[in-house]
Amino acid sequence: MVRQYKSNEAKVKDVDSKQGLVKAYFAVFGNIDSDGDIIEPGSFTKTIKERGPEGSGRIKHFKWHSSRDVPGRIQELGEDEFGGWFISKLSNTTLGKDTLIEYEEGIITEHSHGFEIIKEDHDESGINHIRESKLWEVSSLTAWGANPLTRVDFVKDIKDEKTLLEAIEHITKYLTIGRFSDQLLKDLEQKYSQLTTIYNSLITKEPHYVTCKNGHKFDYNSIPESGMGYVKCPKCKIACTQSADEPKEKEAELKRYYLGKLI
Ligand SMILES: [Zn+2]
Repeated sequence: MVRQYKSNEAKVKDVDSKQGLVKAYFAVFGNIDSDGDIIEPGSFTKTIKERGPEGSGRIKHFKWHSSRDVPGRIQELGEDEFGGWFISKLSNTTLGKDTLIEYEEGIITEHSHGFEIIKEDHDESGINHIRESKLWEVSSLTAWGANPLTRVDFVKDIKDEKTLLEAIEHITKYLTIGRFSDQLLKDLEQKYSQLTTIYNSLITKEPHYVTCKNGHKFDYNSIPESGMGYVKCPKCKIACTQSADEPKEKEAELKRYYLGKLI
């Protein structure tokens, strides 16, 4: 049996901030998805009964399908005419609290589920009807696709300017909201500066003349930065910063630009 994942953008049904409870759909019935599958109503009935909170309690709530990122514990699982839903109690951990804020602020926009197909059949038009699944986990996904920006190697998911800009926008949202844990904000600030460095290296730079302490004048932008905010003078190799507040201004400008796009 192959473990599979399917995502949906169904609206989060309910967030109870006081209790730390969230109710959302992990699957939608009756839609042909991008794999040519339709999840049929009732396909989770058996697995919910056997593996749900009233059964063996094996179905987990993850983030991004990662068993290391468990924001809460499933309290209820069920099905209605629209799809399969879950209620999770978010934990009082840093991850749980940050996840609750992500729900409150609408940053979590998608859910997905990890499952195995037990029963399926193809109709004459080639559509695959999933009639029974074994459910392993339901996952909360944040807006930057299924790619968590909190991952150490997140940069490898940035394939082009579009994903780069999306990532910057996504982080800007977190930084603007501001009330996340210090841990998350610190991590994202670091990533923000990594991303803006990549962004800055992509845009053609105007020449910017600086003079080192020994009086050599050169174009700052013609030399790759040796560290954050300085280059070495091509003649005497002394570390030389860009004039006072210019790099910060550039970053602030970029931030204003993305904030402007968001508002
Ligand atoms: Zn010099």
